[in-house]
Amino acid sequence: MELRICHLYPDVLNLYGDRGNVLAFKKRLAWRGIGCAVTELPIGEKLVPGRFDLFFIGGGQDFEQGLLMDDLRSGKGAEIKSAVEDGLAFLAVCGGYQLMGRSYETHTGEKYAYLGALDLETVGAKERMIGNFAFDTEFGPVVGFENHSGRTSLGPGVRPLGHVIRGYGNNGSDGTEGARYLNTFCTYSHGPVLPKNPALCDGILLAALERKYGAASLEPLDDFAEREAHESVLKMITNAG
Ligand code: GLN
Repeated sequence: MELRICHLYPDVLNLYGDRGNVLAFKKRLAWRGIGCAVTELPIGEKLVPGRFDLFFIGGGQDFEQGLLMDDLRSGKGAEIKSAVEDGLAFLAVCGGYQLMGRSYETHTGEKYAYLGALDLETVGAKERMIGNFAFDTEFGPVVGFENHSGRTSLGPGVRPLGHVIRGYGNNGSDGTEGARYLNTFCTYSHGPVLPKNPALCDGILLAALERKYGAASLEPLDDFAEREAHESVLKMITNAG
C-alpha cells in the first residue's frame, strides 16, 4: 500500500508550522510500513489528475490568499474541485479551508470568489479570533491554535468537523468548527494540528486508504508520547480560565 501526498502551495500557505501535518502523515504511514511519496505543488505548477491520493493545503494571511487567485483560475482550482468531488482525501487548514468555500469577503471589503468545492462562505471582521482551542469530533477531542479574521458559515451541503469545547471555531457564534464533505476535512486549527491529534491524523489516512483500496485498516501504534502531548494540551485548554 502507498499514499501519494500532494502539498499544495507550500511556498505561500505556510503559517505556524503547518507543514508538520505532512510530516505526521508521513511518519504514521512509515511506522506501519505503508509507503508514502510527498510532492510539493507551488504556484505555477500544474495539478495533474490521478497523481495523488491525499492533499494538504495550509493557512495564510488574506494577502497570500489573494496572491493565489490567478494560479487557481489557471486550471488548478477546477482540478482541486473535481478531486474533492471525486472523494480524494484533503486536509485544509484555515486560509486553505476558506479557499475551499464559495467566497471570502475581507474585513476591508474586498470580495473573492473562491473554489466553491464546499458549501460554505467566509466574511472577515476587524476583530480576530485568536487563541488555543479545542473541539469535539467523531475522532474524539481535537486541540489546536486558531488565529483568523474570517467567520465561516456552513451551508446544508457540508457538516461541521466538530463542535467547540473552548475557543471560537468557525464563527464564534454557532458552536461549529471546521467542515467535512466526502473525504475533505477542514479546520481552523493550526499548530500544526496532526502531530498532537493522532486520532484525527489516522482518521484522514484511513479515509484516503479506503478511497484508494476499497477497504483498509490501520494497526494501532505505540504512540504514547503523541497521546500524552494531546492529553496535556487538552487539559491546559479546558482548565484555562
Ligand atoms: N486570512 C484568513 C483570516 O484571517 C486566514 C488566516 C490564517 O490562515 N491563519 O481569516
